[in-house]
Amino acid sequence: MTEAFIALGSNLGDARGQVLRAFDALAGLAHTRLIERSPLYLTPPWGVVDQPAFINAVAHIDTALSPHDLLDALLGIERAAGRVRDGERWGPRTLDLDVLHLDGVTLSDERLTLPHPRIAERAFVLLPLHDLAPDLVLPGQGRVADLLARVDSAGCERVP
Ligand code: ATP
Ligand code: CA
Ligand code: CA
Repeated sequence: MTEAFIALGSNLGDARGQVLRAFDALAGLAHTRLIERSPLYLTPPWGVVDQPAFINAVAHIDTALSPHDLLDALLGIERAAGRVRDGERWGPRTLDLDVLHLDGVTLSDERLTLPHPRIAERAFVLLPLHDLAPDLVLPGQGRVADLLARVDSAGCERVP
């Protein structure tokens, strides 16, 4: 089994419900165990700013899936949640699941880059990741607590 961190995000419809259901879907994945769920955060949109606020969270899992099988499993959960890919990157979505990090894995191909290349720029990822793993060192990016200290997390708030 390999430990991994998954980013969860939603800003369409019942965003909080989508993220909570996605935790359950991760817990139900084959060959995978959900270790811990982070708190939820309400965060301003990033990239395309003219869209609703997001609910973001991070899951800590243990998995026997290969990196690409894990990605396929996440894309399957997104599809089951009704995500439609219409071409606009960073636009509104019912559910977005990204592999942030798989322990001991660095890779980059046409489908998958690990660790996720934009973690260091994103308070909405670093806040919940820091709740679970402040001392985690992301290869090529650094320690989570140090990365969080360098981003502007104003505007992100923890939700019950
Ligand atoms: P971002 O990657 O900046 O968070 P996004 O999540 O909005 O953007 P998507 O449209 O959801 O981007 O995904 C585009 C593609 O990114 C996916 O089909 C997948 O093949 C690829 N990808 C590369 N690395 C990863 C990763 N670590 N986790 C998830 N998807 C990845
Ligand atoms: Ca994403
Ligand atoms: Ca994605």
